[in-house]
Amino acid sequence: MKIVLKFSQKIMQDPLLADVVLETGVRLNIDRAFVDASIGEIVIDVPDERVEEVAAAFRRRGTEVREMDTPIVFDETECVQCGACVSVCPVEVFEYKDDRTISINLKRCVLCKTCIAMCPHGALKTAEE
Ligand code: SF4
Ligand code: SF4
Repeated sequence: MKIVLKFSQKIMQDPLLADVVLETGVRLNIDRAFVDASIGEIVIDVPDERVEEVAAAFRRRGTEVREMDTPIVFDETECVQCGACVSVCPVEVFEYKDDRTISINLKRCVLCKTCIAMCPHGALKTAEE
């Protein structure tokens, strides 16, 4: 399962990921990382059976943790089949089933939000919106 970690600049100075790997012994796969001067956001892939343990270890270190069950919400009624999302998604979440229908595999999503910005018809949003 993918989980989203959000942490402040203060925590960024610590070897957060390394500490959690050492504590839990779980190998974490980083899908996406965004870090600037004030905040960090990382999406990691964790074996389903170890998610609670890993999430607790991050929370103990002051990190906000959210499971990414439904990263992107797709409103089929707003989709105009333009294909913009198919072109921009870096992990091939979208593909054409046939000439006119988009199919979606959200398990691959790393929540980069590029498709939301590119969709011309508001058919895509995050689960929090
Ligand atoms: S947010 Fe959109 S573009 Fe980014 S990985 Fe998920 S589905 Fe693809
Ligand atoms: S970018 Fe939006 S409107 Fe275009 S195919 Fe994707 S979901 Fe549909």
